[in-house]
Amino acid sequence: MTIECQREAKRRPWGRQGDQGRMEAHALAAAVVAGDRRALARAITRVESARADHRVEAVALVAAARTAATALGRQALRIGLSGTPGVGKSTFIEAFGMMLVGLGLRVAVLAVDPSSARSGGSILGDKTRMDRLAREPAAFIRPSPSQAQMGGVARRTREAVALCEAAGFDVVLIETVGVGQSETVVAELCDVFVLLLAPAGGDELQGVKRGIMEMADMIFVNKADGDLKHAAMRTMADYAGALRLLRRRPQDPDGFPKAICVSALEEAGIEQGWDEIQALTAWRRENGHFEARRAAQARHWFAEEVRQGLLAVLGREPARGSMAAFGKQVEAGDLSPEQAAADMLALLGRGG
Ligand code: GDP
Repeated sequence: MTIECQREAKRRPWGRQGDQGRMEAHALAAAVVAGDRRALARAITRVESARADHRVEAVALVAAARTAATALGRQALRIGLSGTPGVGKSTFIEAFGMMLVGLGLRVAVLAVDPSSARSGGSILGDKTRMDRLAREPAAFIRPSPSQAQMGGVARRTREAVALCEAAGFDVVLIETVGVGQSETVVAELCDVFVLLLAPAGGDELQGVKRGIMEMADMIFVNKADGDLKHAAMRTMADYAGALRLLRRRPQDPDGFPKAICVSALEEAGIEQGWDEIQALTAWRRENGHFEARRAAQARHWFAEEVRQGLLAVLGREPARGSMAAFGKQVEAGDLSPEQAAADMLALLGRGG
């Protein structure tokens, strides 16, 4: 490499396509696998980039990381955690993470934050909210990036999980706010999905959407301490009943999905939560459901990538121009919406 090339590589380490970029991707992947935390942070920044020309390197980077993780037999347990703002997610993650670190495990925390897409700022995975855990050498916390759309967030998180796995983390916690689309994304990324709830005031089920309940493998009712303890117990019983009524899935052993009480503040029930997660995971592994879930997720994300790719094609020329032209004809009443769509799809099928 000439000196000029080296300078250029320093200035724009990720901006070039081709072999050079791929070589750098492999070097970065190797550093991630060797346990270099700054390399991991840099690698995640790479996969977060929305620029099309960064994609080539990001794909090479993640592929190299996945290959290394498989060769080394590194597989993290991926735990999804969802809950509305104020329910105690960061307090819980700090307590849970510290407990895991105390057991000698390495923990990574990633965030899927739908609010950051709108506000440009992130309210999840913030290091200042988990300062004890952030100081732990065995823990890695990554706040949510601001991203334009959920498809990008999903891909970024999936790739960040793969990088953390390659880096040798035993547990990857994926945190999200319980609103809208983000839990669906997290549920499709994790092995065990935990819903964190606060004690309910009345006897209603806190308006938790049925869809979220159906995704939950476990419900942790937080703040089961002090004055809130009784309300927490009642809430737990209500949800345990609701979960039983909702379904009995083939991938669940007896007693699951389960609701338990925890107090993140008093660090009570945290170990029980971990024991339950491990029991569920062990059962699923023994019965083939663990791998089956991951395989189904891989398939889901493949189809999703194709869908996103097709949408991207529609947004580029020549398809964009054809869309506009057909749109005008539909507006003018010269073509029906259905006919125009059929013609447009036929055009796409021919590569136009
Ligand atoms: P997040 O928005 O879901 O991340 O919630 P936080 O972890 O920031 O907690 C919101 C508030 O609830 C804070 O004032 C916490 O101190 C409080 N909190 C969190 N966990 C508990 C708990 O187990 N018991 C009680 N009593 N308060 C808690």
